[in-house]
Amino acid sequence: MSGAASRRGIPFVVSAPSGTGKTTVCRLALTRDEGLEFSISHTTRKPREGERNGVDYHFVDEEQFRDLVASGAFLEHAEYAGRCYGTSWSSLEAPLEAGRDLLLEIEVQGAAQVREARADARFVFLLPPSMRVLEQRLRGRGTDSDEVIAARLALAERELEAVRFFDYVIVNDLLEESVAALLEVVGAERAGDTRELSARYGRETVLASWQGPQGG
Ligand code: 5GP
Repeated sequence: MSGAASRRGIPFVVSAPSGTGKTTVCRLALTRDEGLEFSISHTTRKPREGERNGVDYHFVDEEQFRDLVASGAFLEHAEYAGRCYGTSWSSLEAPLEAGRDLLLEIEVQGAAQVREARADARFVFLLPPSMRVLEQRLRGRGTDSDEVIAARLALAERELEAVRFFDYVIVNDLLEESVAALLEVVGAERAGDTRELSARYGRETVLASWQGPQGG
């Protein structure tokens, strides 16, 4: 392999149960690896403070989203918390063609669709240290009622089931270590040498020692 121009980029899909902290891990990883680019999704939710259209998301209304779905613009799309989210084919092709790797930070239903559609994609699942820690993190915000927290935990447990089709699993305990782990996966896949990865981040290996909903 010679030079960035001759290689195609790899789409890396990163998902996690809600509350695991994947946005923070992904943002930091993106600042540390110049060859890695953020895949900008479309969404019908409103921008949060500080978010910019065309940078964080392409913000569209529901009709625009429906039209995009109807025209086959999306590689995957899903509803999450009452809003629509989708990754367009066009947001992927140019960077990949130019040899840039992409980070798709998406929820699990969308990840499952990417799994079906793209053999070139690699799948990384982040886990909280345990479900108990996830609950503590959700409670730690101090803003949500018990009911809201219970609903979010139930959602997280459902999302957790998707781990079965992910290639790599990273337990997000210490932020810096999780970022390093994600970059290690990216680097090894890029280099085409993944022999070490399965011993460290292979799904079966990590899950064997993880405190899931029944443990922890
Ligand atoms: P938020 O509204 O907090 O930015 O995102 C809500 C959820 O939607 C997160 O889990 C985020 O990863 C996910 N998400 C963001 N973009 C996409 C997308 O293009 N497709 C799918 N399926 N999920 C997305």
